[in-house]
Amino acid sequence: MMMLTKKMIEIRSLLQTVGQSETLTLPSIVVIGSQSSGKSSVLEAIVGHEFLPKGSNMVTRRPIELTLVNTPEARAEYGEFPALGLGKITDFSQIQRTLTDLNLAVPVEACVSDDPIQLRIYSPNVPDLSLIDLPGYIQVTGRDQPAELKEKIRELCEKYIRSPNIILAISAADVDLANSTALRASRKVDPRGERTIGVITKMDLVDAERGASLLNDQKYALRLGYVGVVCRVPQATGTGKLFNRGNGSITSAITKNEAAYFSSHAEFGSGSNLDVGTHNLRKKLMYVLESTMASSLKTTSEAIQRELAEATYEFKVQYNDRPLSAESYLAESLDAFKHSFKGFTEQFGRPEVRAIVKHEIDQQVLNLLAQRYWNRPFDDLSQPLPDPDPLSSLPKADLDNPIWQIKLDSSSTSLTKLGIGRLATSVVANALQTHIDQLTLSSRFATHPFARQAITEASTTILRDLSYDISDELEICIKPYKYRIEVEDHEWAKGRENVTNTLKEELKVCESAAKNVESQIGGRKKAKDVMAFIDRVRDGKVVLEGDGIGGAGGFSSALLHKGREAVFLRDRVDILKMRIMAVKSKQCANKTNKYYCPEVFLDAVADKLTTTADLFLDAELLSKFYYLFPRELDTRLGRGLSQTEIERFAREDPKIRRHLDVVRRKELLEHVLKEMEALRQLEAREKRFSSRT
Ligand code: GDP
Repeated sequence: MMMLTKKMIEIRSLLQTVGQSETLTLPSIVVIGSQSSGKSSVLEAIVGHEFLPKGSNMVTRRPIELTLVNTPEARAEYGEFPALGLGKITDFSQIQRTLTDLNLAVPVEACVSDDPIQLRIYSPNVPDLSLIDLPGYIQVTGRDQPAELKEKIRELCEKYIRSPNIILAISAADVDLANSTALRASRKVDPRGERTIGVITKMDLVDAERGASLLNDQKYALRLGYVGVVCRVPQATGTGKLFNRGNGSITSAITKNEAAYFSSHAEFGSGSNLDVGTHNLRKKLMYVLESTMASSLKTTSEAIQRELAEATYEFKVQYNDRPLSAESYLAESLDAFKHSFKGFTEQFGRPEVRAIVKHEIDQQVLNLLAQRYWNRPFDDLSQPLPDPDPLSSLPKADLDNPIWQIKLDSSSTSLTKLGIGRLATSVVANALQTHIDQLTLSSRFATHPFARQAITEASTTILRDLSYDISDELEICIKPYKYRIEVEDHEWAKGRENVTNTLKEELKVCESAAKNVESQIGGRKKAKDVMAFIDRVRDGKVVLEGDGIGGAGGFSSALLHKGREAVFLRDRVDILKMRIMAVKSKQCANKTNKYYCPEVFLDAVADKLTTTADLFLDAELLSKFYYLFPRELDTRLGRGLSQTEIERFAREDPKIRRHLDVVRRKELLEHVLKEMEALRQLEAREKRFSSRT
C-alpha cells in the first residue's frame, strides 16, 4: 500500500520540475494554523526532529514544500534542499538555520512570498508524505510589521488550500474553536468538511472533558475527523538531561509524554472512539494522502496527456520533430565551426602571409624615406627658399659626397634592425586573430557570448605562446642581412616595379586624405586661402604674433591646424609624384645608380626580409596554429565542459532555449505519464487484491 504513496510522491516531484501548470499536480497536505497554535510542533513531531525556524519575528515567510521520504533500509537521517544543491544535510539544526536564512531573505516590505522552499527529508523514521507548511495566521499586526501582512498571509494560504489538496487545520485546545482562524479558512473552501483534518493541539492545557468535547465538535463536522495531540517537547529537568534535543530524535519524548497524558484520562480511553496522539495523526495523514492521490490519479494523468499532446504538437509544427539536446547542439556547432576554420586554413597560406608582411615592411620603408630623403629643403632653414618650383630644389644625390652613401647604408640598417621578427610575427598573429573573430561572428557561436569568449581565449592563448619564441627565432634568421646586403639585377628590377606600385598606392592615399582635409576646412577655395597664408608664414613673408595659438590672418587656430595638415599632404603628393617619375626614369633602371634611387634599393631589401619572414612564419606560426587551434577548441568547448556549462551554453540562444524547453518538457511528460500508467496498474491490482481478502 505505502509503495503507492512513495511512487506518487516521486511523480509529484517530477511534476514540479515540469512547471507551473496548476492542473499538473498531485495533491499534498497543506498545514495552516494561527501563530502559536502549535503548528511547528505538530510538523516536528511528525518528522521527529526540530528543524523549523523559531523566533518571534514572523519567521515563516515562504511556503515550505516538505517531502518526507521513508528509507527503511537506511540508518542515516538527512535533509536536502534540491534547489540549493547543498547536498545531504545530516545536522537538523543546520536545516533550521538554512530555512531561517531563506525566510529572512524575503524583504519585510514584501511580507510574504509565494515562491516555495523545497525541502526533502530522508529517514527510516518518517512516513512517505508530502506536506506544505504555510506562514501562520496572525491576529494583530505587530508594530514593526507592514499593515497588509495579515491580508497577504490569508491570500497565500487561500491559494494553497484549494482542492484537491488536503487541509491540516491546526487549532489550540485552549482557544475557542469558533475563533480558530484555521478552521474558519478551511470551512470557506471546504464547507462540507470533506478534505479537512482538524488537529487540536495543547490538549494538556484544558481539562480532559473539554478536550474530548472538542474532538467531537459537530459545529464544523469533518469527514476525516479531529485528532487531539500533545506535541510539546518536555524540557530537560534537573541535572541529567532527560531528552537529547537538537539533533537527536524527539519522537520518543513526545510519544511518551502524549501516552502518559492520554492514558491517564479515561475520556480518551479505547472505548471513547476519539482519535488522539501524534502516532495516530501520522497514520491518518498517510492513509488520507494515499487515497486522495489515488483518486486524483486519473484526472492528473488526463491533464498530463493533454499537456503532452500540446507539447508534441508544438514540437512537430515549430521544430519539425527535429530532436535536439544541448550536447548535440554544441557538438554540431563546434563541428561547423571547425569546418569553416578548415576552409580558412586552405585559403590563408604563405602568399597571404607574404602580402601582409610585405605591406607592413613597405610602410616602414615609406616612413624611412620620408624621414631621410623626402624632407623639404625649406624645413631646413639653411637652404635657400624654393622658387618658383619647390621640388626642383630637393637635394640631388651627389656621388662625390659620401653623405649619400652613408644615408643609404643607414636607412637599410634601420630597416633590418627594426625588429622585423617581432613586427612580422605580430602582424600575422593579429591577422589570424581577426580572421578567427570573423569566423566566429559568422558562425552559430555569434549569439553565444560564452563560446565567443572561449574561442577568442583559445586563439589568443595559442598565438601569444607561439609568438614569443617565433619572434626571437625569426630575428635570428634575418641576422645576416643586418651586416651586408647584396642586390642582384633581377632583384633590382623587381624592386623597381614593386616600389612604383607602393608609391602609387601611397599617392592615392595621400590624395584622398588631402581631399578629406579640404572638405573639413570647408571647400577648395577656403582651403587654398588657408594654405596660401601658411605658405607665406613659412616663407617668412608674414610674421606671426606669438605662436598663432589664438588664430591668425583671420583664421581660427583650428583652421590653421587643419591648414597645416593640408599643406603637408599637398607637399607629400608633390614629392610622391616626383619620386614616381624618378623611379621610372632611366637613371633608376640600373642598380649602379642606387644612391639616386633609395626607394628601389630599400624595396629590394624589404623583399628579402619578407621572403625570410613568410617562409619562417608559414612553417612555424601558421602550421602550428592550424594544428593546435582545433584541439584547443575541443578542450574548451568540447570535452572540457561540464553538463551545466553545456546546458548554459545552449540556452544562451533564445531560439535554442525554446526548442530545448519543448523537447525537455515533452520527454518529461512522457516519462511521468509512463510512471503514472504503471501506478494506475499497481493501484488497480491492489484494489483487486483487497476486494478478494
Ligand atoms: P506555531 O507558532 O503555531 O508554530 O507554534 P509552536 O509549535 O511554535 O508552539 C507555540 C508554543 O506552544 C510553544 O511554546 C510550544 O512549546 C507550545 N506548545 C506546542 N504544542 C504544545 C502542547 O501540545 N502542549 C503545550 N502545553 N504546549 C505546546
